[in-house]
Amino acid sequence: MATEQVKVLKSVELGNDARQYLPGGVGASARYNPALGTALYVSRGEGGRIWDVDGRSYLDFNLSHGATFLGHHHPATTAAVREALDRGAICGYDSPSHTEFAKLLNQTIPAAERVRFCNSGSEATLTAIRLARAMTGRQKVLKFWGHFHGLHDYVLYNAHSPNSATPGQLIAPNRESAGIPPELDSLMIVIPWKDPEALDLALRLHAHEIAAVIMEPINYNQGCIMASKEYMQAVRNRCDEHGIVLIYDEVLSAFRTGPDCAQGYYGVTPDLCSIGKAVANGVPIAVLAGRARIMDGLAPVGEAAHSGTFSGHLFAILAGLAAVNEIRRPGFYDRIEALANRLYSGLNRIFLRHGLTAYAQGLGARFGIHFGKAAPVTNYADTVNEDKSLAAQFIRAAFDRGVYFHDYGKLVTGHHGFSAAHTEADIDEALTRIDDAVADLQRKRA
Ligand code: PLP
Repeated sequence: MATEQVKVLKSVELGNDARQYLPGGVGASARYNPALGTALYVSRGEGGRIWDVDGRSYLDFNLSHGATFLGHHHPATTAAVREALDRGAICGYDSPSHTEFAKLLNQTIPAAERVRFCNSGSEATLTAIRLARAMTGRQKVLKFWGHFHGLHDYVLYNAHSPNSATPGQLIAPNRESAGIPPELDSLMIVIPWKDPEALDLALRLHAHEIAAVIMEPINYNQGCIMASKEYMQAVRNRCDEHGIVLIYDEVLSAFRTGPDCAQGYYGVTPDLCSIGKAVANGVPIAVLAGRARIMDGLAPVGEAAHSGTFSGHLFAILAGLAAVNEIRRPGFYDRIEALANRLYSGLNRIFLRHGLTAYAQGLGARFGIHFGKAAPVTNYADTVNEDKSLAAQFIRAAFDRGVYFHDYGKLVTGHHGFSAAHTEADIDEALTRIDDAVADLQRKRA
């Protein structure tokens, strides 16, 4: 294995050119990898690997920010997209395949009595909140500190801020983008997750004004933090008592632990859920799903508007059908679980062996690495003093050894994952490379 520092000359060169035409040289801000100081310009992907424009290959633990769960260039989803092309790449029309996909989701996801197709996870959470407001006649939304629900103005609050909060208390809403009207602050209620006293307080003060409670049922965006089934059931009960719409944002958690998503994992069913990323293995689509009596609040049955030229594009519908059928194959998740155990225990053994203070924790196919922590992280508050500089050094060292992790920057712990196309041999190869990378890193730090 090469020991020299690897240079990604073409990516750096392309970045310089790209910056003249694309803000920051990227088509979307999250493409920039702060640990590398550039976006990685990727020429192709196959299974669990990507190749950059310099021709170097990497074992990929980003996987299109979690979208290519079956692996890059999967034969079933590739064939589906080809079929859609042959059928005329139609959008703006429905087809029997749309109903077939909706039926399959209905048979797979507990909350999915009805489904609607959206273009992105952000559009799905936006529509879920609009629908909750329309059906309750209330305006406020309760969200949790450290949970991320996309880029639109109604939810881009407190996904990582502030740096501390008082248990049992409400947290001041904090806009996490310039350009969000301050007037929207009055619609947000923010509390710590897994804090029943804070929930009680928020409901005592505001229950009659709250349209929806929205949460990441597995907080993968902060490095895979879970709740207890009891807490999830308690939130469900409190929403029922107060006529509040419970939304699980499963854009990232969907299909990681089983075909029935995090709601199946906990055995607690929300009123609405947003399903994204993995649902069509990298072809752009998200799904809003939920109870029929609420979903029928959407036009043309109800009064809540939702549509789009590209909504339910045939590419995505056929790719989604193919992907969800793959996921439902018997034994699929036995394999995912075995790979997960191999990878996460392997990473923690490496950290221990080299004396690097870091802890990998995952559930199913997605995981986080908490730098500066030597034990499982169970609460978002515990992540705020993580060692982000060490995280960046690790990502750079792994990159130099041919393993790609995305750096989500200083603000969030972020998430990594493997695909169903990763083999045991891929995981073992990745662990060997990471072992070397951590040795490199510790030598540099010594
Ligand atoms: N919700 C969650 C939990 C997410 O992780 C993301 C994206 O990472 C979104 C919503 C937004 O989804 P999209 O990027 O498809 O708009």
